[in-house]
Amino acid sequence: MKYIFGPVSSKRLGQSLGVDLLPPKSCTWNCVYCQLGKTRKFVTERQEFFPREEILGEIREALALHKGVDWITFVGSGETMLYKGIGWLIAEVKKLTTTPVAVITNGSLLYLPEVREELLQADAVLPSLNAGSEALHVQIDRPAAGLNYQQHIDGLVAFRREYKGRLWIEVMLLGGINDSDAALRDLATVLKAINPDMVHLVLPTRPAPEQEVHLPSEERIERAIAILSEVTTVVHPLKGSMDLKGAPDLLHAVTDIVSRHPVQQRELQKAIEECFAGESDKASAVMQQMLATGRFKLVEHNGEPYWVIQDSGE
Ligand code: SF4
Repeated sequence: MKYIFGPVSSKRLGQSLGVDLLPPKSCTWNCVYCQLGKTRKFVTERQEFFPREEILGEIREALALHKGVDWITFVGSGETMLYKGIGWLIAEVKKLTTTPVAVITNGSLLYLPEVREELLQADAVLPSLNAGSEALHVQIDRPAAGLNYQQHIDGLVAFRREYKGRLWIEVMLLGGINDSDAALRDLATVLKAINPDMVHLVLPTRPAPEQEVHLPSEERIERAIAILSEVTTVVHPLKGSMDLKGAPDLLHAVTDIVSRHPVQQRELQKAIEECFAGESDKASAVMQQMLATGRFKLVEHNGEPYWVIQDSGE
């Protein structure tokens, strides 16, 4: 399938079927921790990149194939809300199924009333907020020209006022960058003004191809939880795990997932082994096949090997 990947499993969204609406990589930001690599050319103009009916058709097929998914999640190769027509897609998906719909977004376009409007029917929206100050926003998120921190915050505040669903803000905690007490206190002040239902603290557990980013220490993570918990509920999600069982074409399913984010070798091996109970050599055969395609390579991050897609250098 061209637009669908997973289901992938995570603490936040259980079994989630991913829908990617964008050509890689289309983003308004160029985050230092981005798993997709550098934003070579910013995209800030919203477009219907692919025909909406074609995407809806794939969602319909995927729902028939994967029974019992917990969420349908719009997420993908960049900033999700750049897809003009996502509101129509959400409305159509809701006619097809009672499975709730989540949207993962960096939130940079929420200052636009039409963007907020398109999200109103989603059951959960997960925007990013990594900084409590303009300076840190520029350092971490590195937005396109014309987008600034105040716009980002104003968009989040306005959206919270209009949106009745679950607003779960994602905070990427980066060791040595936004994990000091001062940075966390600034963040807490802004979060208080936004008033989300919850904050999901996430960590740079996967390699960022462009720049080395570091995991915060246990002590800093606990400090972040303590400081942010003064203003909102904070969850520290366990790392998600892959579920490849039921994938009609294993190599294809793995390619779909790895091309969207790096996957830890251990996690991939476990997921493949679960597909072939009792055939212990099958996982290494599939991984050999993956290497033979020339599309993947193994890189190391925090001492762990990860599968990533080969950089085309475009
Ligand atoms: S917003 Fe997401 S896709 Fe865009 S640069 Fe940041 S991490 Fe990457």
